[in-house]
Order: sequence, then structure tokens, then C-alpha cells
Amino acid sequence: MSEIFDTSNTFEDLGLRNSVLKGIEKMGFQHPTDIQALLIPAVLSGRDVIGQAKTGTGKTAAFGLPLLHMCEQGVPMQALILTPTRELAAQICSELDQLGEFTPIRSVSIIGGMSMRKQQQAIEEGVEIIVGTPGRVMDLYGRKQINFKNMKHVVLDEVDRMLDIGFRDDIRKILSNVRCEHQTVFVSATIDPEIERLSRSFMKNDAEKLSTVSGS
Ligand code: ADP
Ligand code: MG
Repeated sequence: MSEIFDTSNTFEDLGLRNSVLKGIEKMGFQHPTDIQALLIPAVLSGRDVIGQAKTGTGKTAAFGLPLLHMCEQGVPMQALILTPTRELAAQICSELDQLGEFTPIRSVSIIGGMSMRKQQQAIEEGVEIIVGTPGRVMDLYGRKQINFKNMKHVVLDEVDRMLDIGFRDDIRKILSNVRCEHQTVFVSATIDPEIERLSRSFMKNDAEKLSTVSGS
């Protein structure tokens, strides 16, 4: 029965541009995972989304591919992906580099414990996507090296951890400084009702929750 409802069995069907499809092919992804089939069209529509799916189901590409599709070449700092750890930010950045190889869209990870030089250089060159931890992003924002004036997509990966007390102030500051008409996409493997309620308090619009986890 399930294939009857599965109308998005190929990445082509999801409406991604050719340059993005080429990166997907090179990565060897043959079919979208369930969460990708749900999230990609929703994120492409520009709506606010809360996405939940188990670890290892491809949530990075589920938000990363639509960002690569939607970002405009040469408009600096249009999209921001925030993560709770440096390692995760670096990993997402590397996946975006691979998936985006055939697009003109570039990303940089803004994380502590690494030379600032490469990060600053990428910012100066006008990188479209920033992936980082809230602390370092706010640090560079405070030094006027990052600005949020073009920022129209904000993703919180592992949102349950991102909304831990320690990150909340930075996230509020970031969301209150990005473009007024921004899109927010929050994803995680675990979004209980309390995290969902808290997530919604950080979002401007009424987000749709898309989940492949049964019972939620
Ligand atoms: P999650 O964030 O949901 O835990 P990841 O985004 O880290 O999962 O993806 C887990 C692994 O699956 C990665 O190695 C990624 O490259 C791979 N992957 C993602 N989407 C697909 C796909 N459609 N087909 C095959 N492999 C995929
Ligand atoms: Mg993940």
C-alpha cells in the first residue's frame, strides 16, 4: 500500500534544480528517505517547519538540499544553520560542500577551536550559507564580521539540544536580528510536546510539524 501514497520516490520529483540533483547523484543517494520526501517540498515552499525523524535518516540533506536550491548566488549570508556542537557544524558543512559541488552556493562553518582566518576569509568572499554554533556566531556578530541583514532561512538542527537553557538567549538574539520575513526550520530525532511548544515560541509563523516517528 505504501507506494500508492509515495508520490515522491525520486529526488527529481521533489522539485530540486539540476545542479543540486547532480550533487545528489555524485553522493550516491538513489531515493529520498521518508523524512526527505516530506521535508524537502515543505522547506522549498518557504513555510516554517518542524521536522522529526530518527537518527541516521538523512535530516541534514532534508534541510540542506532545499537551502542549496533556494540560496541566490552572490547574496552573502542568506542562510544560517545552528548546531549544538562544533563537530556537527563541521559535518553539516562538509555534507553541504559535497551536495552543493555543482551549485555556486558556498558554506562555511563558524566554530570555536579553529583558526578564524579561513572563516573570516570565507565571510569576506561572500559565502551564502553559515553553519555554526550559537556562541561563535554571536561572537562574530558582535565584532560586526557577520551580519544578518540578508538572512532569510534559519535552521536549528537537533533543536531539542539547541533549546537547552544555555543556548536560548543567543538563539533569541539571532532570531530577532535576522530579516523580518525569515523562514525557520527546526529538526531533531526527539521532539516531545514540551520541545514542540518551546520551538513554536521561537517561530514567527504557525509551523507545520512533519514527523516519520510513529505516535508523534
Ligand atoms: P540524521 O541527521 O537524520 O541523523 P544524517 O543527515 O547525518 O542523518 O544522514 C545519515 C547518513 O545517511 C549520512 O551519511 C548521509 O550522507 C546519508 N544519506 C542521507 N540521505 C540519503 C539518501 N537519500 N540515500 C542514501 N544515503 C543518504
Ligand atoms: Mg542530524
